[in-house]
Amino acid sequence: MAKFRKIGVLASGGDAPGMNAALRAITRKALDEGMEVVGIIGGYSGLINDNIITLTPRSVSNIISRGGTFMYSDRCDEFKTEAGMQKAIATCKKHGIEAIVACGGDGTFRGATDLTNRGIPTVGVPCTIDNDITATDYTIGFDSAMNTALKMIDCLRDTCESHARCNVVEVMGRDCGQIALFTALASGAAAAVIPEMPFDEAGTIERIKAMKADGKRGFLVIVSEGVFTEDGKKYGEVLAKKIDAETGVETKFARFAHVVRGGDPTLRDRMTATQMGVRAVELLLEGKSNIVICEIDGKITDLDINYALIADRNYKNKLKPGDLDKFTAEQVAAMKALAAQRHEEIEAIYKMVYETSK
Ligand code: ADP
Repeated sequence: MAKFRKIGVLASGGDAPGMNAALRAITRKALDEGMEVVGIIGGYSGLINDNIITLTPRSVSNIISRGGTFMYSDRCDEFKTEAGMQKAIATCKKHGIEAIVACGGDGTFRGATDLTNRGIPTVGVPCTIDNDITATDYTIGFDSAMNTALKMIDCLRDTCESHARCNVVEVMGRDCGQIALFTALASGAAAAVIPEMPFDEAGTIERIKAMKADGKRGFLVIVSEGVFTEDGKKYGEVLAKKIDAETGVETKFARFAHVVRGGDPTLRDRMTATQMGVRAVELLLEGKSNIVICEIDGKITDLDINYALIADRNYKNKLKPGDLDKFTAEQVAAMKALAAQRHEEIEAIYKMVYETSK
């Protein structure tokens, strides 16, 4: 006998390739366990506006290979208000929704906590192209977004080589430079510029000059969208002009923006989405909620959402007064160790970008 008779699934916040695969896995696994499943259209706004559809195995046919989210996504500020929350709970009551699996990023998980606290047990599945949820090694969508970016960077590489040019490419990743960093390493870029590491602008310009003198023709520099000049301008465009002016290498700027958010999910994302989606339903059935599904050291596991959110703030140096008070000394030590580990991982790859581009 399933613990819940009916659950809801939703996708919320920024979309990511693999969200559909996660929604499909959650739906099919829950149906397989004998539960009814409803889709909440447009994320939390679907709960507020009572936009609910019944899901059958056929509702999620032919979506595992598609980007975007067939249930759409939305950003819903009303959900953060008490009045909005009351409407959401009323919709759950009206439809007999007893638990929810929410696919999204850290904002979505904050909403999931609010729902759990109001009596609707909720589990979060991490979907964001930025891989910016510190508690999990991996978030659904990251691999697909990077591969899309990499394909386009490779195209630029070809033409940079033909014309002896440099291309500065700006990729997504708000406070997290992993898309820029990983694609820089994988494309053989001369430099990566990410929010996590100080950037040696003068040194990079000198390196490009030296590489040019050594006969190198094409150059790539990958910049995260989260890096700004002191006066608030996006750094990528500014850097492109400086390289152009100071190295004698004709330099173009390209912004990939939202294009890397779409497209077919890779095998990695379809697999992880399916594994995480199934695990989310299993954990609900075991009576667990207010958790986020994580991948840690290659294993699919789970962590308390509050712990995950504060571990994230700790890593990003955004802790607010009192944030750590709810946690034991061991938990705080684990958060600090995790932050140190994440920094080390980033630093090691950053160093490698420079060691391997000559
Ligand atoms: P992501 O989940 O990708 O981080 P957002 O930060 O936009 O994306 O959050 C998605 C949605 O989650 C928001 O539109 C809002 O409905 C809900 N949400 C975000 N922050 C909170 C919060 N502090 N409390 C309740 N709900 C929130």
